[in-house]
Amino acid sequence: MSTVVELRNVHKSFGSNQVLKGVSFTIPKGHVTAIIGRSGSGKSTALRCIDRLEVVDSGEIHVCGHQVHDPAVDLRKLRVDVGIVFQSYNLFPHLTVEQNITLAPCAVKKASRSDAIALAQRTLKQVGLADKAQSYPEQLSGGQQQRVAIARSLAMEPKVMLFDEVTSALDPQLTSEVLKVIESLAAEGMTMVLVTHEMEFASRVADTIIFMHEGRVWETGDGGMLRNPQTQELKDFLSHGL
Ligand code: ADP
Ligand code: MG
Repeated sequence: MSTVVELRNVHKSFGSNQVLKGVSFTIPKGHVTAIIGRSGSGKSTALRCIDRLEVVDSGEIHVCGHQVHDPAVDLRKLRVDVGIVFQSYNLFPHLTVEQNITLAPCAVKKASRSDAIALAQRTLKQVGLADKAQSYPEQLSGGQQQRVAIARSLAMEPKVMLFDEVTSALDPQLTSEVLKVIESLAAEGMTMVLVTHEMEFASRVADTIIFMHEGRVWETGDGGMLRNPQTQELKDFLSHGL
């Protein structure tokens, strides 16, 4: 099975705060990996290092053939292959949904306008918003805006999608709309890494769950791991929550 993302012994500090203390994991093609753990355990930092939004202090990160730890890495090419979606959607309020989605394919991939619009139509269909192309963000619910943000990422045709707590700002109804989209992407074989607090969702959809604790990968397993935690730290996390 081919590997899409590999972290090898990654260290990262902010000042004297050691946030990643030798993190290693492998994300195979077509797999869904959920990263869970307490607030401050380094989940977002690990995710951001994959897309080089943070630069590692030491260790190696390999993503779709890019040596992300190498200062000479081609960031433009890396970011075509890696899509990342955050809790905040960051859509441009003065642009329609379609314009928000076509912006990057036109600017970065030099797609023609008609190809970019076709991509927007296809990706909006994937997230269940085919009828919203001409809407403005403020006319949409938070869940719909987040689905547009996912469509915008998909329009770059990434090889791997990273999701950082994309449902944390949403109420349960809107959360379930977004999770349904993520689940359908999983069914289509998209390689994904999700930082999430949705434990039931992680158990059901993830092929692999990574529990991070104090900057380390503490426990790794399949969806069943949460029903049978091996370490006291994971037991505590599951019983006390965030
Ligand atoms: P998590 O996503 O698991 O909640 P983070 O990776 O966001 O954890 O943060 C881990 C630690 O790193 C926290 O102590 C946080 O304050 C610190 N941190 C994260 N990003 C930065 C940054 N850009 N500058 C300084 N400290 C940061
Ligand atoms: Mg975080």
